[in-house]
Amino acid sequence: MAYKAPGKHFREGLSTRQFFQRFPDDKTAEAWFIKQRWPEAVCCPYCGVTNVQIGCKHKTMPFRCREKECGKHFSIKTGTFMQSSKIGYQNWLYAFYLFATNLKSVSSMKLHRELGITQKSAWHMAHRIRQAWNLDPEQRFWGPVEVDETWFGGKRKNMPKKKRSQLEGHGPVGKTAVVGVKDRKANRVSAQVVEDTTKETLQGFVQDRIDPDAAVYTDDSSSYASLDNHESVRHSQLEYVRGSVHTNGVESLWSMLKRAYTGTFHQLSERHLHRYVGEFVGRHNMRELGTLAQMSLVADRAIGQRLRYQDLVS
Ligand SMILES: [Zn+2]
Repeated sequence: MAYKAPGKHFREGLSTRQFFQRFPDDKTAEAWFIKQRWPEAVCCPYCGVTNVQIGCKHKTMPFRCREKECGKHFSIKTGTFMQSSKIGYQNWLYAFYLFATNLKSVSSMKLHRELGITQKSAWHMAHRIRQAWNLDPEQRFWGPVEVDETWFGGKRKNMPKKKRSQLEGHGPVGKTAVVGVKDRKANRVSAQVVEDTTKETLQGFVQDRIDPDAAVYTDDSSSYASLDNHESVRHSQLEYVRGSVHTNGVESLWSMLKRAYTGTFHQLSERHLHRYVGEFVGRHNMRELGTLAQMSLVADRAIGQRLRYQDLVS
């Protein structure tokens, strides 16, 4: 049934038609979520017992813990980022599906239209899913690695004059810096939003994430000079590749993000940029997994995470 998705690697795909055949309603989608989280037996998220009553008459919470001291009602949404969400199971799962099948990501406008939910709910939903996509296990990189930085956001001319002058001489005005690494051997990436691109910040990132014995390739920004095991290409002299010395791998992460920025999101606010960056790091690190496998991973990562609407706007 599964088709071969385009691309170098074999990925187990799932067409939209297959999705709706498999999950025709909230009941089937809910059953999938339950199986993902509790493959053996439904487990109380409050006290951890499996002595649970199933199929209670409660409106939204079909489970009740039978443990005397606990006795709480719960649903599969309890203790996940879906907690207290009124959005139905099929819509949640379809949103996971859309994120897994759109390489340039999904805008909240698209979720709003496709799911028939309000724009506000769609925006909140998108950020919760996006946060769960960040598959960056904070592990060390053994190299060889490419390290590079890039800038996102704000145009100088759209900025109040006062702010503009404050930022003078601190890199591209009003933009936010992101530094990233790609491990060539493991083909994994990581990236994070940083305050600035000074030597201290960039070398701090390298020291935190990269083994001291790893070969490091960068461009010729002076911030990287003096790193150990380090070689650079002279972008300032239009040299982009010299043998194995280049940063093309990590730059392709930037171009994915920038294509999504212009093609899908149209704007990225600085305060949410880290979540978009995390999503694209996850997209790279999960790219060989099939559609359903990616959806399960996101469902796993929904557990224990909350991202309330107030947290996003305050
Ligand atoms: Zn309990």
